[in-house]
Amino acid sequence: MRIGAHVDPTDPLAEAAARDAEAVQFFLSDPQGWKAPKPREDAERLRDADVDLYVHAPYVINVATLNNRIRIPSRKLLLGHASAAAAVGAKGLIVHGGHVNAGDDLAVGFDNWRKTFAYAADSGGFPLPVLIENTAGGDNACARHLDALARLWDALGDYEVGFCLDTCHAYAGGEELLGLVDRVKAITGRIDLIHANNSKGAFNSGQDRHDNLTGGTIDPELVVAVIRAAGAPVIVETPGGVAGQAADIAFLREQLGTAA
Ligand SMILES: [Zn+2]
Repeated sequence: MRIGAHVDPTDPLAEAAARDAEAVQFFLSDPQGWKAPKPREDAERLRDADVDLYVHAPYVINVATLNNRIRIPSRKLLLGHASAAAAVGAKGLIVHGGHVNAGDDLAVGFDNWRKTFAYAADSGGFPLPVLIENTAGGDNACARHLDALARLWDALGDYEVGFCLDTCHAYAGGEELLGLVDRVKAITGRIDLIHANNSKGAFNSGQDRHDNLTGGTIDPELVVAVIRAAGAPVIVETPGGVAGQAADIAFLREQLGTAA
């Protein structure tokens, strides 16, 4: 099982080494901005590395929204990130499930997701797996509650779609972690990546506030159980820099009985 962390994008391989990580996730552009990612000068080094790479798409992306001025640039930015992530040899591009605005029909949001994959298919398809991530908050989210996730997967039909399960988002979003992997897999058929995070917010608080694995409001053993059940690679998106994340990775290896 590959275990790693979300790191600063300047030198992801150095960040991996500092944490004794087998995988890293990073941004290719400002996560709060709309700028397309620039080609990376270290692309070949990244492609050749024996560290598994994951790219997280900017937070501003919301392909579900009925607001054209957000949805259309979101699609473009997502496709641009997919190309740029493939160019560095990433194993997946993680993108949040998105939401519609209050009063808007969530069914249109799911159909906007379908259109996003259709748009990508028109230009040859996504060049790497796109992993839709569950989110913690909001009343109109496409991937907070499992009933919405099921409708999203129905809308996406035959498109090749991956799933990233974030333990903080699930718990804070109001989904019990016990047995969650089976309930998710019954919908998605797969879990490609686990974001292993504890939560500063309470169960069903809707708060997206990550904590270190042995801190927070979630019993750490439940996070470990989710990882064990999913059997997927793990990225911690926890605070505390190198020391905090290295401790979280070491904790998981110890609990899972896996050496680096
Ligand atoms: Zn996450």
